[in-house]
This record gives sequence, C-alpha cells and structure tokens, in this order.
Amino acid sequence: MATAKKKPLDLSAFPSASVTEYSTLVCLACVFEIFTKQLGFAPRTAYSEIRKYSPTIAELTAPKALPPFFDSDDKQAHCPYCNAGKRWHALLETIRIEGGKASDAARRALIKKLPQKDNQFQLIETKSDKRAIFFDWLDTLVRNLNLDEESWLLEATRAYLGRLEPKTNWIEVFEGLRAVRRSQRLSEGWEREGSRLFLAPPIYNEVLIVQYLVSRSHVHGGQTLEGRLTLFELIRRLRYSGYLDAKELSGADQSDTLDAIIEKLAGGQGKVKLYHIVDRREFLDRVKSVYARYAM
Ligand SMILES: [Zn+2]
Repeated sequence: MATAKKKPLDLSAFPSASVTEYSTLVCLACVFEIFTKQLGFAPRTAYSEIRKYSPTIAELTAPKALPPFFDSDDKQAHCPYCNAGKRWHALLETIRIEGGKASDAARRALIKKLPQKDNQFQLIETKSDKRAIFFDWLDTLVRNLNLDEESWLLEATRAYLGRLEPKTNWIEVFEGLRAVRRSQRLSEGWEREGSRLFLAPPIYNEVLIVQYLVSRSHVHGGQTLEGRLTLFELIRRLRYSGYLDAKELSGADQSDTLDAIIEKLAGGQGKVKLYHIVDRREFLDRVKSVYARYAM
C-alpha cells in the first residue's frame, strides 16, 4: 500500500535563520518488535500504543540516529538493525522554530492551520540558551557546506547575514556575487556594487569569526575571506580593526576572548523558546498499513 505524498508545510513566511528542519526514518519492524517481544503487548495493543508513541526531541533531531531510528538517502535502503524493507520505514520530519519577534506571528498562523485529528502534528516546546542555539546553527551550517569548494566562504557569509538581518532576501542580494569585501566607507550595514558586496567592518569581522569557527576543525586554523588564520591571527586582526574595543572585549587572554566573542555573536546570555512541530502523518499511515499485514 503506497503512502500518498503529504503536502509539506509552507514555511515561506519565516526568516530562514529562525527555522531548522530535521528528518529521520523510524523502522516500524523494530518498533513492533520492542512493543510485542520486549514489552509483551498483544499486536492490537501494540498498535494503539505505537500510534500514541511520540519520540523525544533528542531522538528526532540527533545528528546521528540511534535505534529504532536511522538516516538514509537511499530510497531502497533496509533497516540497519533488522534489515526490514522500505514498507516498514516511516519518515518523521521535525521543524524547529526559534521564538522571537521575527517569527512569532508566522508561527501562530502556521500552528492554527494544522489539522488536529489523530495528533498528525505534535507540538513540543522547549527552552534553550542563546549560546547553544548559536552552536546548533553553526553545526547545521557546517553540515550544509562543502568546505572543499571555495564557494563555501560566500555561502557562510550569506548564512550569517541571514541570521543578522532575517528580513532581507539574501538569495537575491547574492545573485551573481563574486566577492565580499570590507567597506572603507560604511560604518554599519552593507552595500552591493556590481559583483561585489561591501560589509561595514563590524559585520565583516563577524563573518570572519563565523568562517573561522566553521572551518577550524577541518584544517589547522580556520579558512576565511582573509585567508587561513590561526586563532592568534584572527584575534589580532579583530583587535587592530577596533572590533574588540567596540564590543568591549579587549583584555582577557586568547581563549577567553574567543568565548566572549562567541557570546556576542550568539546575542548574549538569555534563553530562547523553541517550538517543534513534528509531522507524524506518514508515521501514522505506515503504522496502520504495517499493522494490517502484521495482524494477519
Ligand atoms: Zn528495523
């Protein structure tokens, strides 16, 4: 029994930096095994329990899936744990929206439109601090960039600007762009001139920091628009360009300085509310079709 393709949620009203999408596959053969063999439920009870089953945020968003979840781009893949074929697999998609002025109205409108029946969508609210969110953002960025291709420097620049100014259409601004430079005239903001984008020095410096953080584990030092920089060189540049003074970050030694810089980029120390929308539509469909076979 083929599962009809579900219409994806429309996220176009959200600034892209406020939304993170996760997806994972769950093996229902493994899940049924747990509920019937390990927990000793009769198939019918197992079925109704599994329909209510809600994975945790950690399970849904883990960079590396743990049983009974797995990740695979291969449509014909078998479960890595029990080898069950694809009709036993259900895709679970999770959308994480960062609370805040830029996204609150769009989030309320989206949630209001979701169907209520059978918990097809599950809403989970959590809290995190700004630093953790910043590192999540950085992790996602690293996974989406190919550091072996030079264009990643521009992509990382665009991603950071998207975080800084979520309302600007950066895809359009970056169209046909060849270079990003430190502006000699602007003290804030940015301007595009021909195929070049000029950033005010503070923003340019922050782009360098993000590029450093993205690539520092990849190779010795970090790769930036200004070439490869060690932490020492990066901080020296930030100091000479007046960035550390402007952000009241002078003083302290190197590693403390990097820590303080990251805190600034993350937006300070406060907490952020996170809203997760778990799309359970395919999961519910698959549980039903699998059970129909299972109970025979
Ligand atoms: Zn399995």
